[in-house]
Order: sequence, then C-alpha cells, then structure tokens
Amino acid sequence: AIILGIESSCDDTSAAICVDGKIRSNIIASQLVHQNYGGVIPELASRVHQQNIIPAVHQAISDAKIHKNEIDAVAFTRGPGLLGSLLVGTSFAKAFALARGLPLIEVNHMQAHILAHFIGEDKPSFPFLCLTVSGGHTQIVLVRDYFDMEIVGQTTDDAAGEAFDKTAKLLGLPYPGGPLIDKYAKQGNKHAYKFPEPQIQGLDFSFSGLKTSIMYFVRDRIKEDQDFLKNNLFDVCASVQERIISILLNKLKKASAQYNIHSIAIAGGVSANSGLRTALNESAADLNWKVYIPKFEYCTDNAAMIAIAGHYKFIKQDFVGQDIAPLARMQF
Ligand code: ATP
Ligand code: FE
Repeated sequence: AIILGIESSCDDTSAAICVDGKIRSNIIASQLVHQNYGGVIPELASRVHQQNIIPAVHQAISDAKIHKNEIDAVAFTRGPGLLGSLLVGTSFAKAFALARGLPLIEVNHMQAHILAHFIGEDKPSFPFLCLTVSGGHTQIVLVRDYFDMEIVGQTTDDAAGEAFDKTAKLLGLPYPGGPLIDKYAKQGNKHAYKFPEPQIQGLDFSFSGLKTSIMYFVRDRIKEDQDFLKNNLFDVCASVQERIISILLNKLKKASAQYNIHSIAIAGGVSANSGLRTALNESAADLNWKVYIPKFEYCTDNAAMIAIAGHYKFIKQDFVGQDIAPLARMQF
C-alpha cells in the first residue's frame, strides 16, 4: 500500500510517502523564525505550517515518483504537540482523505518516534526497551508490539532535550542549543567539571536540579573571571553533556536489568547526540546489548516515522473517521 504521512506537531512541517513499508520520500520544512525568539512561538508555528504544508506534500509525492491517485491512505500526527500546529496537519489530512475517498489513520507522535526503527533493514524484534529522548519527553518504553507500548519510566520535570536547550540558553547559545552543545562537547574535556546526579527512585528522571546547578555554577565562575565562559565553553559543554548522558544511561541499564531485556533502542531528537550514541555503543559491548540507533534524519521530527506507523496500522485496517480531532496531550 502507498501511505502519505503528515507531521506538524511542533515547528517542522513534514510530508512523506511510504510504499509497501519502504520510505520513498521525506520532505521536512523547518521553521527558522523561532530562532529569533529563543524558543518555539506556537502562533507563529501554526501560520508557517499553513504556508508549508501544500508545497511539502507536492514535493513528497513528486520525489517518490508516484501519482497522487495511487495513494491508499493518509496518516497524520494526532498528538501530542502544539494544538494549533497539529490542527494544520490534521485538517489537511482530513480534507485530502475526504476529497479522494481515502481512509484516515491517526498516529501518536511518541509512538512514531519509536516506530522510526522499522524504516530500515535492521528492525528490532519484540520485546525491546526504547529510550525516547526529545524536546518534550524523556521516557523508557517497554515495546511489546508495534502499538503495544508501556511507559515504565519518565521525567518528573524537564525533558532531556529541554535540559540541553536550557543549558545552551544559560551559556548564551542560540535555540535550539542541543546540536551546538553536541558540537562544542567534541572539542572539550568531559571530566573538567562535575555536575550533580539527581537522586530519584526507580526508572524516573529529573533534570531541573541539573539546570539549577549549572545556573549557579556559571554565575559563580563568572564572578571570579568575567571571561570564564568564553575560555571554557567547550569543557562546560562536554561536562554537562556527560552528566545528561550518564543520567539517561544509568536508568536504561536499570530498566534492562529489571525487565531482563537486552534489545535497546533510542529515539527522538536527543538520540542524534553523538556522545549518547557513542556511550550506548560502549554499553552494548560491556553489557551484551543489541542496540538500535536511528539514522540522523529519523531522530528529530519527520513524516517518514508517521508514514511507517501508518503502514503498520493500514495492515490492521485501523482507521479513524472524519470526526477525529487533534490532542495536545495524548497517551499511548
Ligand atoms: P516531542 O517529540 O517530545 O514532542 P519535539 O518533537 O520538539 O518534542 P524532537 O524534534 O524529537 O522534539 O527533538 C528536538 C530536541 O532534540 C531539541 O531539544 C534539540 O535540542 C534536541 N537535539 C537535536 N539534536 C541534538 C543533538 N545532537 N544533541 C542533543 N540534543 C539534540
Ligand atoms: Fe518529536
């Protein structure tokens, strides 16, 4: 079957075509306007989605070298995300399906981040554990089947992506700071400074204490030396990144032991982080894990992951009606 996937949950407008489980095109129009504000402005995001959605879909269809008459179903992100942004993709998907008499498939954005692992050749086998680390979420998910997932641990405050972005802001770096911290960390010493590890029980996470300790650390060092950040930026980035990674990996190791599962995946925007990818590969060697690391293009928001989720729902004929509405918050 040929599935058109639509993603518009945050600030990327994306359209993709999946043919019989293989991704044939994946167009992502990123919104640069938000950089001027240091974060995503929801009202601006919806407006830019409106401008980008039709061109993105046209491009996805043309890159896939199919005709729009050949599309069998439309899959779209129903949530979670910014409501105004989700409305643009949802309304487009509903209109397209209605006009062409096609079935509609709703997709949960966080499940789709995980299902991105089924795009390539090296597909994980069930059950596996997935650490989903993105701009809005930090979860350890027990994945029993494509749509049978259970969150066994999650953040009690900030998401890992937020920890990166808020740290970057404290260091005077532009939004989104995650990729920049990653870049600078490569040139720094990760053992230069020691940031505290939060004391939190079970498989849950906390990042707000880390953010506060970085804030005081920077303030105190600058008092002693005005140029502290300028001269030590790479070391600070490397040390902060090291702590975020160790927080994530310690819980993942705990979950692996608790559930006796050694197939381990990572997903979401922060899974693009090169330090995390390296650390995961090292753990794989130490602990006999089989690890699954997504291709860079499928880490951050994209419609390919929505289309592949749509492919697996199409097989089950799991469709929704025209009365479907997007949800800012959405459970599995
Ligand atoms: P959610 O999926 O929770 O709704 P989102 O869709 O906004 O949130 P993603 O697009 O999956 O999030 O990920 C964006 C986040 O990933 C941002 O916080 C960004 O800083 C972070 N990020 C992207 N690349 C890297 C990197 N190389 N290192 C660290 N963080 C990164
Ligand atoms: Fe996302």
